[in-house]
Amino acid sequence: MLGFLLTIKMSNPFLYQTSNLLSPLLSPVTAIEGVGPAIARLLQNLGCTTIRDLLWHLPYEIQIRRFSPAIKLACPNELITLQVRVVNHLPFLKKKGRLIPYRVVCSDNEDSIQLIFFTPNPNYLKKLLVVGSDVIISGRFEVYNGHFQMTHPDHIGPLSTKNLWEGTEPIYSLTQGIHQKTLQKIIKSAFTKCPNLPEWLSSHILKKYSWLSWKEAIQKIHTPFQLEDLNLNHPCRRRLAYDEILSNQLSLILTRFQAEISQGRALHGDRRLQQKVLKALPFSLTQDQIKALEEIQRDMTSSSRMVRLLQGDVGSGKTIVAFLCMLHAVEAGYQVALLAPTEILARQHFRTMEEWAKLVNVRLGLLIGKDTSKRRQKIFHDLAEGTIDVIVGTHALIQPEVEFKKLGFIVIDEQHRFGVEQRFKLSEKGENIDILSMTATPIPRTLMLATFGDLSSSYLYQKPAHRKDIITKTLPLSRMEEVIIGLKRALHKGDKIYWVCPLIEESESLDLAAAEDRFSTLQALFPQQVGLIHGRLKSQEREATMQAFIEGSIKILVATTVIEVGVHVEDASIIIIEHAERFGLAQLHQLRGRIGRGSQESYCLLLYNDPLNPIAKSRLNVMRSTTDGFKIAEEDLKLRGGGEIFGIKQSGMPSFTFFDPIAHQDLLIQAHEDAQAILSRDPHLIGPQGQTLRILLRLFEKGQTLTYLKSA
Ligand code: ADP
Ligand code: MG
Repeated sequence: MLGFLLTIKMSNPFLYQTSNLLSPLLSPVTAIEGVGPAIARLLQNLGCTTIRDLLWHLPYEIQIRRFSPAIKLACPNELITLQVRVVNHLPFLKKKGRLIPYRVVCSDNEDSIQLIFFTPNPNYLKKLLVVGSDVIISGRFEVYNGHFQMTHPDHIGPLSTKNLWEGTEPIYSLTQGIHQKTLQKIIKSAFTKCPNLPEWLSSHILKKYSWLSWKEAIQKIHTPFQLEDLNLNHPCRRRLAYDEILSNQLSLILTRFQAEISQGRALHGDRRLQQKVLKALPFSLTQDQIKALEEIQRDMTSSSRMVRLLQGDVGSGKTIVAFLCMLHAVEAGYQVALLAPTEILARQHFRTMEEWAKLVNVRLGLLIGKDTSKRRQKIFHDLAEGTIDVIVGTHALIQPEVEFKKLGFIVIDEQHRFGVEQRFKLSEKGENIDILSMTATPIPRTLMLATFGDLSSSYLYQKPAHRKDIITKTLPLSRMEEVIIGLKRALHKGDKIYWVCPLIEESESLDLAAAEDRFSTLQALFPQQVGLIHGRLKSQEREATMQAFIEGSIKILVATTVIEVGVHVEDASIIIIEHAERFGLAQLHQLRGRIGRGSQESYCLLLYNDPLNPIAKSRLNVMRSTTDGFKIAEEDLKLRGGGEIFGIKQSGMPSFTFFDPIAHQDLLIQAHEDAQAILSRDPHLIGPQGQTLRILLRLFEKGQTLTYLKSA
């Protein structure tokens, strides 16, 4: 099935044709009459550089403008259109030092209305509003001191314009310098440039959902009659969402095929090292760990390239699985790199693996940014010579000086912390490298599909057996005294405690101040027992404090969110999170994962500021009711307060114009299945529907994908 994707470079008349069809849509906004370079620059602030972008700029609201047959039938503050006769002009007046604006009195035979203008040069109004003539005016109707008035009408024109000024208008988000009316007009003109595109959806799908054509759908969205027309579940919106997600799925599948046929290499381990380590471990692997290990090894042994994700909650035991896979590569004669997002984590992985590596004489190295140059040179040398088998490190691994003798396998911890480019750079340090990413941020299946397509995933659902559940409680900050009493008791028992201070509006220095404050209060209460770590500390200081906490010479570790990922202190059993309402579910879940790693009972205390808003309240309830990361991820998807989606912001989720990952889940599944069916029928998109789908791909900027295909 995969062989079909070999690219054949050939001139392709059809591609030329499809790009021609789309060219009106892809032409710059200046193609619209009245849009010059100045307006174009403003439109760019709205993300609009082409006609298509304008059509993609969706209204978020509607405004109803009514024709009122008589002035007195209009309601204050209502947007109305009136037919009136111009009675007379009242020029500027200075009255007690105040400037009275220019006014034009109009009437409908029964009542009169004043049009108000704040303009230094009212001459044009004389021509626009000729005394004695009948005109159509439209704007917001005001009642002021018992008088009817309209300030700066949106419209003044001949009677023939009446029909244009009643009905429903779309309301768009604006940028400074562009008025609503102007933007409405520009977007309306964009329609006149909009070509009829051949239908790319099957008649089956169109019928199943009773959808209009692409052009009709997009037009409808911009000409709403009622608020429901802007609803995410309106058929027109759904059709466009489906178009978008179908193009996304087609492109993901095509790209994935491309990656799979790109040559990988078979790493054959003989399990000799693995067996030794497995025997020496003080525990046996869980069923999930065994299954994940098998899945990963199967990929590594196959000749195609592995790109796999290992998903498992904090503490589910990903590290040992990854290490066993590394041994597989080492057995096969290759070097391995593990890329960690922070120095603390790199060190921690190094420490953990060091013990295991010793058992089997695997040579392990650590490379972080702040190494002395002598140490660094030695590591560069050893990597190039192949005397280091496994290198653990931070971004430092990506620098050009790092060369490997024979790199065959990369493990990336918390992959969402790294950009695509960084991952790519590392994988360029060897040929056809197998990649395993690990994440403790569970991604709901639908988002997974939309983001990565069918990226192979292995899951660790169960926790290692001896784990006790974590007890989670919530308490308002006003009950701090009780917290301190509890803390005293816990310290007396010998517990170790994390105290996490809140994020303050993304400002590191404010965070720090809050953490320092908390540190001094606690220090005063419990002298010699409190430590503080935060992002600004030098790594040695941070390391020393961490070490003191691990050894137990300090018992309370006050921290900003630097402890968020992966830190492992087995006997820490309490975590207190201050202003928990300010954290997202993903963060809370990760933070809570710092505890419950040993065999003692653990407690998570979420301190919140009363009163809670409903979303924050639900978040804390979710935290109280479950510790299952996958469940929490699903709940988060449902709540999605303030645009925050569990881990997705960072995991490279593409942004969509029409598709909404929550409202359109069913469409995503449908599109995923349809894309698979389409490509298995017509792998090169050269059949009749295939060709129109090429247009769809280009329309949604997935044209790049087409280079993987044989020409039509
Ligand atoms: P993760 O990286 O998924 O957060 P770790 O790999 O750090 O989790 O594992 C947490 C702890 O659990 C480690 O001390 C590890 O040695 C231990 N562990 C891993 N697998 C098991 C198992 N099957 N049984 C008992 N303990 C385990
Ligand atoms: Mg980990």
